[in-house]
Amino acid sequence: MSGLVSFVGAGPGAPDLLTLRAASVLARADVIVWARSLVDPAILDHARAGAELVPSDDRTHEQVVEIYARAAREGLRVARVHSGDPTVYGALHEQLAACRALGIATEIVPGVSSVSAAAAALGQELTIPDVSQSLIYTRRPTRTSMPPNEQLVEFAKHGTTLVLFLSVRRPRELQADLLEGGYAPETPCAVVYRASWPDELVVRCPLSELAASIKANRITTQALVLVGPALGDASCAGRSHVYDPGYGHRYRPLGRPDRYNKTKEAPRG
Ligand code: SAH
Repeated sequence: MSGLVSFVGAGPGAPDLLTLRAASVLARADVIVWARSLVDPAILDHARAGAELVPSDDRTHEQVVEIYARAAREGLRVARVHSGDPTVYGALHEQLAACRALGIATEIVPGVSSVSAAAAALGQELTIPDVSQSLIYTRRPTRTSMPPNEQLVEFAKHGTTLVLFLSVRRPRELQADLLEGGYAPETPCAVVYRASWPDELVVRCPLSELAASIKANRITTQALVLVGPALGDASCAGRSHVYDPGYGHRYRPLGRPDRYNKTKEAPRG
């Protein structure tokens, strides 16, 4: 008997942002462990009749691992559903280690990150040529600490696009760190609450008003803060080199524009 634990990315919220692979893993699972606070219950429509549905939010890591131990003994397939992508702030590492110790196989099914959903809500690209070509994903310390070499003030010195998870609870400190790091007070910021959910909220403001905007909208959880010049007015931005008429490459050699411009053939018969 060999069980399997699949760590499944459920996406940012909207049930149709689940991947096809995630849906088929859910359909095969004997047990589905999911966080009620962060995952839309509509995702469970993919479960097969008779699958055991276990909420994870009122359980400790050890209690969830008991489910994996039973799966190892009984040869069950478990789908452990995480919001967004499981590999980003997903408490995945300790679960993988526990599964390794139990000798049960694991797999990871990628999910659409909340960052992708937030950028979609903003209607913007996060990397713009000659404006910002790097993304920093980080968070501020709260009840959980940060490694000493990962301070927000230091990251802010890069001046690139910063994406802050789990960081809206102390907005004044957040704003102060970003300013101290060197972002100008007029740097464009966006706060995206529950991206892709029906109650999604997008707030835009300059950095000097970030704390006040977060407070005024009573955003205390489930939000991303995005900071940096790429969040600004789209009309002032540079453009991609790859799609420039003067930039040739394998699929669009200079001087042979139609070479790869084929239409899909209709099926025969
Ligand atoms: N693995 C997830 C992140 C989990 S940590 C992912 O890939 O997105 C939880 C934090 O992620 C929240 O506090 C919030 O900062 C962010 N988050 C998750 N879903 C979100 C959503 N739909 N909209 C905005 N932020 C979200």
